Amino acid sequence: MPGLHRHDAAARMVAALLATLAVCVLLSLQLTWRADAWIYDALLSRFDQPVDPRIAIVAIDERSLSEIGRWPWSRGVHARLLDRLRHAGVRGIALNAVFAEPATGDPAGDAALARALAATGSTVLPVMAEPSEPGGMPIEVMPMPPLAEAAAGLGQVDVEIDRDGIARRAYLKAGLGSAYWPSLALALLRVGPAAADDAPLPGLRLAGQPGPLPFQWVRDHHILVPYAEPGAFTRVSYLDVLEGTVDPALLRDRWVLVGVTAAGIDHGLATPRTGGVPRVPAIEYHANLLNALATGQAIAPLPAPWRWLPSIALVLLPLALYGGPGPWRRPSAVTAAVALATLLGCALLLRYGRYWFPPAATLAVLAGGCLAWTLTRLRQSQHLAHSDALTLLANRRMFDLTLARELGAARRSGRPLSLLLVDIDHFKHYNDRHGHQAGDEVLRRIAGAIGSHARRPRDLAARYGGDELAVILPETTAAAAEALAGALVDDVRALRIPHPDSDVAPCITLTIGVATFDPEREPGPVDLLKRADAALYRGKHQGRDRSAAVAAPA
Ligand code: GH3
Ligand code: MG
Repeated sequence: MPGLHRHDAAARMVAALLATLAVCVLLSLQLTWRADAWIYDALLSRFDQPVDPRIAIVAIDERSLSEIGRWPWSRGVHARLLDRLRHAGVRGIALNAVFAEPATGDPAGDAALARALAATGSTVLPVMAEPSEPGGMPIEVMPMPPLAEAAAGLGQVDVEIDRDGIARRAYLKAGLGSAYWPSLALALLRVGPAAADDAPLPGLRLAGQPGPLPFQWVRDHHILVPYAEPGAFTRVSYLDVLEGTVDPALLRDRWVLVGVTAAGIDHGLATPRTGGVPRVPAIEYHANLLNALATGQAIAPLPAPWRWLPSIALVLLPLALYGGPGPWRRPSAVTAAVALATLLGCALLLRYGRYWFPPAATLAVLAGGCLAWTLTRLRQSQHLAHSDALTLLANRRMFDLTLARELGAARRSGRPLSLLLVDIDHFKHYNDRHGHQAGDEVLRRIAGAIGSHARRPRDLAARYGGDELAVILPETTAAAAEALAGALVDDVRALRIPHPDSDVAPCITLTIGVATFDPEREPGPVDLLKRADAALYRGKHQGRDRSAAVAAPA
């Protein structure tokens, strides 16, 4: 990357790796599914879904139940309903009721229903997958054979409920061992005139599950149901159809879905449009599924590579854009732009492409990255506020705070605390001869030498002011501090920085004042700085290029 510091490039590399890792973890553990569901529901409820006018619901509602009698009704009643629908010239019928066993004491009803089914020639019945026992293996519950044979088709009514209790998805094909049953809505779509059986089905295909076990429920053609507004489909009462009081124009040439809407029998489903309440009856779910197929508006979840690759690319995008012209100089602006583009892209893809890209993992990593960057900058600026720009040692403010804190800590722990005041000998002359820039360089080199001596985590080297530097040495005895000071004096002399105007040596030398606070020996408050200053003054008088100490008062 031309024009970039090596350090910057390395930091970007690390950020890129961390972002990729984070988004992969979020995606593989599905940690953001709840946020994705929330975004999906919010988007879906904002879009108008086209409603196919050829769909009608015949509702087994409270009124029908109170007039016709307790559920289940004699199958002869359903036979009469089918006859009415046939005469009305409907396109096809899905009669969503369970007829698994012969009705006890009503063989005439069974026979009438079988006849009516055959007469319509376009009625589909449901196949259910139910656990054989609570928590057990699923079994398929089919209509009893005479009815199944008389029906124009069978369709499964499996509804997958998401972990938050909302019914978002549907599988156009499902079955035990292999996905051979079309869904009820698909079966209904296919009975009508001009139905194209071989039209390619939408939805995410079953991902390579080699040979599922024969007793496993297998689902294929996974779609998300684009729910229309609750109540968007024409709905007539079963009772009214049965009594012939419904305008036949409401039924002619329609796909009719017959099912329970009475809340006492059908508990309903929560959908993205309803959130929790009110719930929609299962028959309306099937109507929505049929509507999705009839209008070509089914939404397909994107296959895994199409979720992973864009997610990774999107979290890396701010790193690629950052540093560009104008607003791209601000990471928060770059990240916000990418996050907005992600949301917008995801909304457009859902609305017009009918694909669902879950964006939450990407958004979470973008937000996390922006936060991490802000925190890093904050720490950097805090560090700058505490350090000296020339020597990069701590500044005077930090020195004062640390000395006060360490004096308190020494008093509490009873351990000694030492302080060095370091001064460059005849530094004024050096500056006068070589200029301030050369003087600055000397200050930096001496700061480096101090840094290599004060190495314990709590040691603090600081610029005290001018050519004076200071070192706080917690838990360090006077003897140890004097040894360190002596070594530092030797080290700087060994640097052999030429200083012809010094009367001490032909090179830069230091004088160091050493003071120690020993709480065991002097319990009262102590001005350690003053004592170090006195020691420095003594060292200067003794001829410089040395360390000197002032004994604590006895
Ligand atoms: P002594 O041996 O008594 O310490 O003599 P000195 O000349 O070092 O002491 P004095 O206090 O007279 O002068 C300190 C000099 O340090 C003055 C100035 O030229 C130099 N100095 C102070 N701060 C800086 C700085 O930030 N950069 C440079 N280059 N020089 C500085
Ligand atoms: Mg000096």
